[in-house]
Amino acid sequence: MARIVCTFTLPDEAVDLLRPLGPIAGPEGWRESLADAEALLCLMTERVDADLLAAAPRLRIVANAVVGYEHVDLAACRARGVTVTNTPGVLTDATADVAFALILGTLRGVSSAERSVREGGFDGWRFDGYLGADLAGRTLGIYGMGRIGQAVARRAAPFGMRVIYHSRTRLDAAAEAALGARWVEFDELLSSSDVLSLHAPLTPQTRHVIDADAMLRMRRGAFLINTARGPLVDEAALVDALRDGHLAGAGLDVYEREPAVHPGLLDLPNVMLLPHIGSATVETRGRMAMLAARNVHAVLSGQPPLTPVG
Ligand code: NAP
Repeated sequence: MARIVCTFTLPDEAVDLLRPLGPIAGPEGWRESLADAEALLCLMTERVDADLLAAAPRLRIVANAVVGYEHVDLAACRARGVTVTNTPGVLTDATADVAFALILGTLRGVSSAERSVREGGFDGWRFDGYLGADLAGRTLGIYGMGRIGQAVARRAAPFGMRVIYHSRTRLDAAAEAALGARWVEFDELLSSSDVLSLHAPLTPQTRHVIDADAMLRMRRGAFLINTARGPLVDEAALVDALRDGHLAGAGLDVYEREPAVHPGLLDLPNVMLLPHIGSATVETRGRMAMLAARNVHAVLSGQPPLTPVG
């Protein structure tokens, strides 16, 4: 008879907040507890669709404990009167840090250099060994200048990078000036970026926005960084563009068919591959869980949700 179902292990602070509202079930066997659930706390690995909603007739809120919500059928939730929330803001800096780790790591070949040391390949300092690319003087292109895109732009300036960006909506002049960023059309973003970093959500419009054609329109020798969602990039086309040298390297935290990684990427030396760790710090995961819990607390107490979507 759980009133609240959670698909992941809640931190103690969140349990303390929610326990007075009623019994909490999960993560083990959470699906079996949906029949009585009024609140579901979940992650991007769970599909919230009409089938799930049918199994949870009393559901009032889906508190998605991440910021992206492409795995939630918003129309089906709306039709059933179920509130959907996410966790904007609390993971912005952590994710921007990982984007910047990938920018630095990819341009300087950190992954392959580190592998070389572990494999015994480091045989002394060489003038022409392990050569990467400077960040300073290069143009960073940001696709999707929202919370995380802006946090990445703020990190780029001290490294001497020029910043251009494309979103459907332009920032106001003061925000552009503060970030030192210039809005450009999508075509110019592709053709003028030395490093293209993706920060837009996964939507029907952004799926495969970086496909073979877009990669061809990117600068020869450019780098692609993706900490948004894997399906923004056509991974097979990316492997081709890296193999033929049109792109110089890629830094990826997300993949088209997670947890699968295109085997071609695993074979390439000029890519840095992370296991979707954008928001993975102790502090950030705590904030994400607490924001999801506070959304549940608000809705089950008859208050408006803190961070609704849709
Ligand atoms: P946000 O503040 O909503 O920013 C998203 C930006 O994308 C907005 O500026 C939006 O501006 C732009 N955008 C949306 N559709 C677009 C389109 N068709 N073309 C161009 N720009 C478009 O979201 P956020 O908090 O920065 O998060 C961004 C994404 O990062 C999330 O959706 C999530 O998928 C991903 N993420 C990944 C990790 C990770 O672990 N790797 C962690 C957190 C978040 P306009 O609407 O004006 O175009």
